[in-house]
Formats: sequence, C-alpha cells, structure tokens
Amino acid sequence: MNESISLGDKAKALVKHFRSCPLNSDFEIRETPRALHQPYLKPDGTPRDQFFTEPTGVFNTAELLINQVGLTPGADQNGNGLFIKLNSFVESVNDVPFGWYEVRTTNTVTSEQLRFYSPKVVIAAGSIESPKLINRSAIYQSLPDHVKSLIGFGLTDHPVTGESQAYVSSLENSPRISLSRRDHAKIIFYSRGKRNASDHVIYPFNIEMNINHEYWHLRNNDPSAEPIADNTGKTRVDIKFSFANCLDDYNGIFSHTNDGYIPDVRFKRFATLDDLLQSRFPALAGWQKNHQEFFDLLNETRDRVFAEFNDVDWLTGEYGGGNGRQWPFGWGTVHHACGTLRMPWKSNRRASFNFESVVNENLKVRGATGLYVCDMSVMPISTAANPVRTLAGLALRLSHHLS
Ligand SMILES: Cc1cc2nc3c(=O)[nH]c(=O)nc-3n(C[C@H](O)[C@H](O)[C@H](O)COP(=O)(O)OP(=O)(O)OC[C@H]3O[C@@H](n4cnc5c(N)ncnc54)[C@H](O)[C@@H]3O)c2cc1C
Repeated sequence: MNESISLGDKAKALVKHFRSCPLNSDFEIRETPRALHQPYLKPDGTPRDQFFTEPTGVFNTAELLINQVGLTPGADQNGNGLFIKLNSFVESVNDVPFGWYEVRTTNTVTSEQLRFYSPKVVIAAGSIESPKLINRSAIYQSLPDHVKSLIGFGLTDHPVTGESQAYVSSLENSPRISLSRRDHAKIIFYSRGKRNASDHVIYPFNIEMNINHEYWHLRNNDPSAEPIADNTGKTRVDIKFSFANCLDDYNGIFSHTNDGYIPDVRFKRFATLDDLLQSRFPALAGWQKNHQEFFDLLNETRDRVFAEFNDVDWLTGEYGGGNGRQWPFGWGTVHHACGTLRMPWKSNRRASFNFESVVNENLKVRGATGLYVCDMSVMPISTAANPVRTLAGLALRLSHHLS
C-alpha cells in the first residue's frame, strides 16, 4: 500500500483548507491511503510522461505472515524458512492424524501434484475462494453444524452513490487557491460518527473526493488507451458517498463438498434503496429516513463540499432527481467483497456480539485445531472505507498469535 504519499502541494493545500472549514467538525479529512496501482504521478503530483508497469497486488497476506512470524529465509534464499511457492493451486485441506493437516496442491504450469503437512494452516484465498476451498475439502465434514451453516454465506460489499461531478476554477477566496488540470488529489472525509439528539448517526458514510482523477484512476490507466482529451481549462472535482453495510445473508457461495468446482455464487442482491432505508441504515445508524430525507442529506452534504470551490459548473444533477436531472444512488461495488467466513459479529450496532461465527476472535476456524483464515472473508461488516489496511492489521495480529 502506498500510504501517506501525497499527490502534491495542491493536495496538501486542499486538505489544509477543508480542515479549516465547518466540514471538519463532522469529518476527519486527509489524503487517502492508496493502492500502488493508482497514481501514475510523480511525487510532486504532475502526471508521468510514461506509464510504468508493476503488479497491482500490493498486499500479500502470506508474505506478511511469513515475515512477521520470523520465518523469512536468509538473504541467499537457501536457508531455513518458508517460501512462497508460485503457480500452486490449493485443491484441498484435509485432516490427517495427530491434529495435522494435509494441503494438496497442483502446479498450474506443470500439473505436478504436491502434498504438504503441517499442524497449522492459514487459508488466505479471498472472500470467494476461501469458502469454496473449505467446502470442497475433507475438513468441512469434521466441522460443527453451526459453523458449516455459515460457510459461504454473508457475501457483502458496501453501497456507494454515483459520483457528483463539476468543473471548478479555484478553492476559497482568502487566499484564493488556483486549481488547474495539472493538479491532483484523492481526499477522504471520514465521518466522525457524530450523533443527533435521538442518538442516531448523522453521517453514516464517508466522502471520497478526487481531483482530475481521469489522469490516474484505475479505469483510465490502460497504457494503450487514447490520451485524455483535455477540452477544458477547469479542474474536475468528483465526490461520492460510501456507506458501510451489514452482512447480507441472502448472498453467498453455495458450494458443496466434492462438487467438481462448480459452485453457485449468489451475489445478486445489491443493496436497493428500500432495502437500505428499511433494514441496513436503521441497523447501522439508527436511521428512520424516507427517500426524500435521504436524498436531501446527500444533496446538502454535496453542496457543503462544493461551496468551498469557485465557479462551479455541474456535470451531474441532484441525487434523487431534483429539477428533472436525476443522479442515481448507486447499488454497491464489487471491489470490497467480504463476510463469507465471518468472525464474531453484531447484527446491529446496539446488539451484543454473536459468537455463532466461522472463525473465532483469533481467526481460528471453530471446531478445528490449527486451521486459520486471514483474508477479507472474516470481516463481519463491509466497511465504508477501503479495507486492506484493516486486513493488514488482522494479519499482524494473527502473526503475533501464531508466534
Ligand atoms: C479494482 C480494485 C481496486 C481496489 N482498490 C483498493 C484500494 O485502493 N485500497 C484498499 O484498501 N482496497 C482496495 N481494493 C480491495 C482489496 O484489493 C481487496 O479487498 C483485498 O485484496 C482482498 O484481499 P484478500 O486477501 O481477501 O483476497 P485477494 O487479494 O483476492 O487474495 C487472495 C489470493 O489467493 C489466491 N487464491 C485463490 N484461490 C486459491 C487457491 N485455491 N490456491 C492458491 N491460491 C489461491 C488468489 O489468486 C489471490 O492471489 C480494491 C479491489 C479491487 C478489485
């Protein structure tokens, strides 16, 4: 993760300004920790002349665990220690005598099959693949029924709004901070979770702001793509609202032992607005809002943000369709899927912890002796912000537990 690397002086100036405006009392404002794949920019924030190529997989649970547990081989790579074995597809994890496990793998290049034996195994194949792996492994049969009944269920991502977009010329007036097409920023406004008189969370969402992100956003960084048409002198500002979400037990991976790798992935119920307003937001924030109240809050907050800029030319309409220029509330993303092997969880923020979970608080699979999970599938809620830093924290905690 590219944490705390600034997108330049203008990004710093924007953060400084927003921290001094009234939004700061409701949101903690800072530059966003970013995955390495995003900024094709120089350290001062100007776009690179050429795209550089590097893997986008910037966080590796296995490597972090191996380093932290102290099993990294020496510099010559020939000493004792654990290695990452490339091109190995894990077919199954099976119980063997004395509480050990057998891990069966197939080399995806040579088809060679290898078996490894260990008293401890950490599964980190992600929210879709980890439950499938457990389901098709012999270990599945030895797990308690209440654990089996949760494996694969709860596949959830978080809802986001469509982006509100506008061209602007500058920021504030005294002093006026000019903005150009060559300035860049990715800023996150984390809700401070303030409550109203009814003890309900006023802003149960974060705001992500991108400045001129067509130069460096993932969807635009195909090196073979046409250069971006720069047809305006003004700066583009995009913001979107990102909500947390409770696990959705309707969605899941319906796989069965020895099913020949043909699982049924049910991820069809993206959060509709009615669903969110009637069950998700009340559980998360205590909200009882109708459509109009919900859209009013989004539009008011959007206007508070854009009021800090000068000469705002809107590209998008109001959320909910004010003046016939409808701008949609989104249905969710498929970037941050989680929840299929949950840890202890809460059905809502007031509930006590439910320990009917797949893994316990140490990420060990319940009913197993040395089987652990460390990936996004253990998350008991889909967070409103990018989740990988939380996963890195879980991996560090697990490494301490294991060592
Ligand atoms: C386009 C995109 C952009 C994102 N940007 C951000 C961001 O900026 N910040 C952020 O915090 N999060 C971001 N995320 C989310 C983040 O990348 C994921 O939440 C995170 O990578 C999930 O980690 P994981 O360990 O659960 O699974 P993965 O990262 O999917 O890792 C699982 C690994 O297991 C391997 N595997 C699966 N099955 C097997 C098997 N049977 N045998 C062997 N290996 C197997 C897979 O090949 C994979 O390498 C983004 C996601 C996407 C899709």
